This record gives sequence, structure tokens and C-alpha cells, in this order.
Amino acid sequence: MKQISTTAEMHAVRRSLSGTVGLAPTMGYLHAGHVALVTRARAENEHVIATIFVNPTQFGPNEDLTAYPRDFPRDFALLAEAGCDIVFTPSPDAIYPPGFQTYVTVEEVAQPLEGARRPGHFRGVATVVAKLFNLTRPTRAYFGQKDAQQVRVIQTMALDLNFDLEIVVCPTVREPDGLAMSSRNAYLTPEQRRAAPALYRALTVGQEAWNHGERDPERLRGRMAEVLAAEPLALVEYISAADARTLAELHESASGNVLLSLAVRIGRTRLIDNLVL
Ligand code: AMP
Repeated sequence: MKQISTTAEMHAVRRSLSGTVGLAPTMGYLHAGHVALVTRARAENEHVIATIFVNPTQFGPNEDLTAYPRDFPRDFALLAEAGCDIVFTPSPDAIYPPGFQTYVTVEEVAQPLEGARRPGHFRGVATVVAKLFNLTRPTRAYFGQKDAQQVRVIQTMALDLNFDLEIVVCPTVREPDGLAMSSRNAYLTPEQRRAAPALYRALTVGQEAWNHGERDPERLRGRMAEVLAAEPLALVEYISAADARTLAELHESASGNVLLSLAVRIGRTRLIDNLVL
């Protein structure tokens, strides 16, 4: 596996590749969810590029940019084992050199949910992903359903800006007790870790209600709220039942695909999860 850290070398190496390229962008501290993206990219493309970049523009001033966990040696071993050919690990200065002033802003779909609680987050995400698309010119780019709104933002950006590539959405990989894998799970104390599966339990209770015919979005949110209220360490930020395409919160009886999603604080750790009905 080849490691690249400058944009000049990334462009040069990309020019030398012929055939299909799969891209898996990450912030590192990899787990089985990331590995699943790389494994799928390996199966579907001639060349596989993973990126590790903790993108400063997607973190708010009071978020965990400096504390974000990092472990390159372990990440490289996992990527090599999953069949990655190239790992791109640019520095913040390589991506945002002095004088940088061009950003990508996706509008409606970036506004609710995470967008409302993390101002500027999706502007940072869309900007870095657009840059990574230009640097690696992938045939297919792989993203996790774990970050459902991020997927909708990137799909919208790719369509609106005519990126000639396919966005592949991979299922959320979970721990045996249902907790969605996340680099941020490393922040949890053992007691908090025991509380964290409450998110997935709440989502599955919402899904069961849906499967039994419940179509009132307020009642779906209420069922999820009851489960979370029973977990004393869980502090709810939002509980949503939204249109899975527009992400607009539902108020009338739901008909099309519904995205159930949650953001919950456990101690100082902010966890998100979702299910599509
Ligand atoms: P991150 O390193 O958190 O920015 O995530 C990089 C990519 O991995 C994103 O497309 C995420 O949606 C995806 N991802 C993160 N956690 C999971 C998971 N548990 N299952 C599937 N994909 C995931």
C-alpha cells in the first residue's frame, strides 16, 4: 500500500491509474464500519484509495477537533489488510493552504437535524469531499448509512455539481449489542458504554411500531423518547422522524420512506444513529 500526503503527488499518481477507482474517505481511527467501505470498494474497483483526514472545517469551535482520536500505524495495517492500494493522508495545510477561500454549501438538505445543531458542519464536509473527489477522481465513492444526512448532502452535491461518479451507500456496522461503530465510542467510560445501546434500542422500538402499522410520526418519535427516557445517562438532543429524501420533519401520516434518527449525549460524547423505514 502506497502512502501519499501531498496534493501534487495525489494528482500525479491518479493520472497514472487507468481503470476504475473506488474511494473511501475517512477521518481515521478506523473500525469495522470503515473497513466495510474499503472491502466493498476492493470488490467493485480496480484501484482502491482511502483517505485519512480529520477535516478542521467540519468541526465547530466547541467540538472535539484536537481530541479526535488518531492512530495511523493501526489504520494503515487495517487498510492494507482490507486490500487498499493507496492511502492519502494530507496535512490540514495541504488541503487548506494560506489564501484558501472557496467553500461548497448545500442548502435545504443540510439545514435540519445535524445541520441545525452543528452550524457550518456540512459546509466543511461538502467542501472537503468535493476536494477529495477532484484529487482522486473516483469511479465510485463509498459512504456509510451511519451518517445518513451526510449521505444526502453528498448525493445532492454530486448531482448539483455534476461529479461524474457513483455514490455507494454501505449499511451501518454495529457492535453485537447494537451500538453503531464510531471512532467516538472510544471516548465512553465503561458505564457510559453500557448505556450507549439505548440509541439502537430506541430506533428498533420505533421500527417495530412502524412494522405494526403505526404511521403517526409524533407517536413514532414518542416511542423512541420513552426508551431514551429510561436511560438516565442519555441526554437527548433530537429525536426525528423525517422524509428520508428531503429530511423534512414529518407531521402528517407518513407514506414514503421515513428516516428515524437520533442525536444523544452520553457524558461529553455525542452519538448519532438512524434507521430507514
Ligand atoms: P468518519 O471517519 O467517522 O468520518 O467516517 C468515514 C466514513 O465511514 C463515513 O462515510 C461514515 O459514514 C462511515 N462509517 C462510520 N461509521 C460507520 C459504521 N458504523 N458503519 C458503516 N459506515 C460507517
